[in-house]
Amino acid sequence: MVRITHRAGWILVDPWTIIKNGYVRVCNGLIEEVGQGHSNGDHVIDHGPGAIMPALVNAHTHLELCALNGRVAFDNGFRPWVRQLINLRDSEKTENLLTDAKQGINEMIETGTRVVGEISSLGITKDILENSGMSGIWFKEYLGNNSLATTQCNEKKGGFTTSLAAHAPHTTAPEFLINLKNAAQKNNLPFSIHVAESEDEIRFLSTGKGEWADFLTERGIDFSVWGLPVESPVKYLDGLGLLDKKTIAVHLIHADKDDFEILARYNVCACLCLRSNYYLHQRLPDLTGMLAAGLKPCLGTDSLACVDSLNMFDEMAFITNAFPLVPPSKILAMATINGAKALGVADRFGTLDPGKRDRFIYVPINVRDKPSLLETIVNNEKQT
Ligand SMILES: [Zn+2]
Repeated sequence: MVRITHRAGWILVDPWTIIKNGYVRVCNGLIEEVGQGHSNGDHVIDHGPGAIMPALVNAHTHLELCALNGRVAFDNGFRPWVRQLINLRDSEKTENLLTDAKQGINEMIETGTRVVGEISSLGITKDILENSGMSGIWFKEYLGNNSLATTQCNEKKGGFTTSLAAHAPHTTAPEFLINLKNAAQKNNLPFSIHVAESEDEIRFLSTGKGEWADFLTERGIDFSVWGLPVESPVKYLDGLGLLDKKTIAVHLIHADKDDFEILARYNVCACLCLRSNYYLHQRLPDLTGMLAAGLKPCLGTDSLACVDSLNMFDEMAFITNAFPLVPPSKILAMATINGAKALGVADRFGTLDPGKRDRFIYVPINVRDKPSLLETIVNNEKQT
């Protein structure tokens, strides 16, 4: 068996465990040992003075929208953006969507991401991800009230496991939300849902009225049995029994302290996509409040229809600028171990502990001490 020792100026085992002048020894695709100085290995690769760190985890993206990069206008508001996005996506040939999705995968790999939570409503990105060398969860996303939808999941292939996602509380009927969550739960798999993202969603759930209510009525959808109004989307999902540690609540822009406390009580995984929130809604979630409530958020880039890269270093740099008081170690945890936990793959990814997969990256930086190492990593856009 070939053992390879990877040496570097710094080994970032996890955001709180950093070894100066260290090594990671791997064997058979697994990390066997991390340590300081030199290991007695046969093959040694010296990467240089920078840092070996865990590969990044993008817990929320939509690869099938890569082809829409730069083509959907933001300035008219969120609802026109969604309408334009769906029209453009549906008018594109599947093969074009896939060509750009493959480029998106390449971008993620080149910028240090190896684990991904992909949300697919068309269902077209499964094969390309299974053949990408990355790992993670491929979520089939549903909305509406599709009682005939197949809620099959837990198919494992090429590093990916299939699971289920619901689009959002205001776009998906409550009984369907419950079916999807139950199917994921039965297989002990994560379930993903966008929560408290838009003003339409808040207005509809908290009043049972407004343009979204009219939109549903026009389409013959009877929401009189949905139990509205409710105080907040989080409380609504709580009432439906959808909250637990395997639920990933994405966005939470309009969630407050009460909501965070409920989410923390159930150990729900919050997933933040701050660049997307900023571009689409000109508003950011209350990350400080989430951390104070004890939540351990993970990060996603969301799609190229609303951000200009799938680079998780860009996402970390954006958060660092937006929330300068949040410690770099917490931001790095969001992009690594918290994402791995949210996707249920922390036994294999997210840190460089022995026994995990050898999915690490080398960041070519030159720093003097541990604090500046962390600061440089979370502050570096376009880092690879
Ligand atoms: Zn999304």
